Amino acid sequence: MSKYASALVNIKGLGVKTFSYLIPDDMKDKIKIGQALLVPFGRQGLINAFCVGFSDYLPGDFKIKKINKILDETPLFSIEYLKLLEWIANYYCCDLVTVLNAAIPLKLIEKASKTEQIIEFVKYDGATKRQIEILQLLEKSGKMPLILFEKYAKTTRATIKKLEQSGCVKLVQEELYRNPLDILRITEREPLFELSGDQKKVYEGIKEKINGHGEILLHGVTASGKTEVYFKLIDDTIKAGKNVLFLAPEIALASQLTKRLAKKFGTKDVAIWHSSISDGERYDVWQKLYKDEIKILAGARSAVFAPLKNIGLIIIDEEHEGAYKQTTPAPRYDARVVAKKLAEFHNCPLLLGSATPDISSYYKAINSNNLFELKHRYNNAKIPPVIVINMQEYGKGAYKNVISIPLQSEIKETLSKGQQVILLINRRGFSTFTQCQACGHVIECPNCAIPMIWHAKDQMLKCHYCNQVEYFPDFCPECGSDALKTSGTGTQKIEQYIKDLFPDNNIERIDSDILVKKGEHIRLLERFQRKEIDILVGTQMIAKGLDNPNVTLVGVISADASFNLPDFRASERGFQLLTQVAGRAGRGEFSGKVLFQTYNPDFYALESAKSQNYNEFYTTEITAREEFDYPPFSQIVRLILSCPNNFRAEKSAQEIALRLCTMIEKFGISERLEVLGPTPCVIERINGQYRFQIIIKNKLDKKGHDFISSFLNKITLPKDIKMIIDVDPLDIL
Ligand code: ADP
Ligand code: ZN
Ligand code: ZN
Repeated sequence: MSKYASALVNIKGLGVKTFSYLIPDDMKDKIKIGQALLVPFGRQGLINAFCVGFSDYLPGDFKIKKINKILDETPLFSIEYLKLLEWIANYYCCDLVTVLNAAIPLKLIEKASKTEQIIEFVKYDGATKRQIEILQLLEKSGKMPLILFEKYAKTTRATIKKLEQSGCVKLVQEELYRNPLDILRITEREPLFELSGDQKKVYEGIKEKINGHGEILLHGVTASGKTEVYFKLIDDTIKAGKNVLFLAPEIALASQLTKRLAKKFGTKDVAIWHSSISDGERYDVWQKLYKDEIKILAGARSAVFAPLKNIGLIIIDEEHEGAYKQTTPAPRYDARVVAKKLAEFHNCPLLLGSATPDISSYYKAINSNNLFELKHRYNNAKIPPVIVINMQEYGKGAYKNVISIPLQSEIKETLSKGQQVILLINRRGFSTFTQCQACGHVIECPNCAIPMIWHAKDQMLKCHYCNQVEYFPDFCPECGSDALKTSGTGTQKIEQYIKDLFPDNNIERIDSDILVKKGEHIRLLERFQRKEIDILVGTQMIAKGLDNPNVTLVGVISADASFNLPDFRASERGFQLLTQVAGRAGRGEFSGKVLFQTYNPDFYALESAKSQNYNEFYTTEITAREEFDYPPFSQIVRLILSCPNNFRAEKSAQEIALRLCTMIEKFGISERLEVLGPTPCVIERINGQYRFQIIIKNKLDKKGHDFISSFLNKITLPKDIKMIIDVDPLDIL
């Protein structure tokens, strides 16, 4: 048995770190990886820790302290689990502690108290009218954790305190088994639906493939019944005695999904996991998972780290969503990558599903013969027709050049029928691309095939991948017109224009500005659902999950904007966004209509979005990716160096790029690794930090990745310079 144990601790101000401790003789045959320990730490006395490894040597010469106690002999995670985390650390070029920090909830490291405040109904007498509503909810639901109840009843601690003072409720400290699904109070289980012919074919095809590890893609148009196919596969998996992990891209969708799962499979076997469940709930679910008492775990991105045992199937729904990737802080992991590794560990299949799959996923699925498709909506419901408004023609009569006459009259007609409108303003902060108003041509970099960005300060067009600089052309290189314009109109302005045009209607805006007010987003969506809002104006945040049968018109103000970001994934993201937003119209008994305004009606991604033709889009896009060596034909690693001093930021980026290039030359691997930059990031300064980026393109080579990761591991930087390493970045903006 080893002499020392490596213990993971969480220290205020220091964060999560590992330290070595001596293992006392009487613990030697009991200590295991994953156990909770009690260890001495400086002036803080005894603190909680986790055993994460053993060694016979110390990393330095210092006085070693002894482990005080093993708190719980049952480990909370296994060696295999730790191995998975090590693999992630290596893949994303960060250290294990960073990954542990993301994977293991802090509550487990801190005092794992199991008691919590419980609220109980006492009486109605003495309550105000508003308070009575809250009491009714409580009486119906029975006693429950206070934190949970506050969420459930949408009330505040202050209100509860008042209720306590008037004796209407009782608050007690109690040990309680926490299952957030209890509030659903589901008593009867619904049977699974009989699959339709198409669904059955897909289901049987997938069943044949489910034999050991494999990655399968289910491409099915919106409302084709993908979820019903998942349910059948889940049912088979748990009947075979194995468990299922089911991921959704965000918390709201994961909650909806969990409800659907609980109705079909019962609350006892289903649990939910995401970053916003309470610490108490998290602790309990973790314990249950570790004891193998959960059969189906649903959750958002972070649920890939939950220690679900004996996994027989992993499902990732809406797999194209960017939300599966953590952008900040490190580890900048993609739940799909982690899930794939997890599936390998468990030797089980990974099933991805989407109406608009990620280009790389689709490519992989085709080439491994693992693609399944559902081409029609269930019951053959109609997908709404899309009308493209060519702004070269209709821009002239448009209100403020923004809202064309056809869009105005469609809005008017929809409102007159008492139906509702969604207007998408497709802006992501800085759409300063340059476009010809006569022919729609966008000025692109000759080396990178991405739009060049207008820099008002230097009066130049720049490429943010390769640093190419050009003068603003006098004439369009495509048609010779002088109508070249840099564009970008904000959401607030457009909201105002709509209010000018429709002064008697109720118009609200949803964009990232309103996110500042907590809960405002959900409040607005609920009001929209209750028909209290006639026109909802917003950014991509309104494209997802809205299921309002009274929406019959979807208008996209500037369909071009999504395609003209300086990013190789811009067309893909634009196509996905337009296809998804179009799917919001005509979901109920009234048929819907979709209008795209554009200066570039012939653009391939727009044409495919118009006809909702994924395969057509894919065919064109994959050719471009291959030509310019973008994923899936390469892997991208992005480095961002930042510093309050512009010159120092640039200099450090140059030094790193130079050293990297020299090493690549020296090892003779310049065929496989390409270094672009440094260039200033599109957002050149954030929080007073100047930012420069280096893009490394790796032509799909494991050795190349190992080379990059060991190179980056050895970099030491001056204190004022920060480096971000992003493996497989979502975008390069
Ligand atoms: P997707 O996941 O592809 O968007 P869903 O599974 O949510 O589609 O299906 C859309 C709607 O059609 C849901 O209301 C679902 O209950 C219903 N549906 C799909 N397949 C069936 C089926 N085989 N029998 C009954 N209803 C179905
Ligand atoms: Zn032109
Ligand atoms: Zn370029």
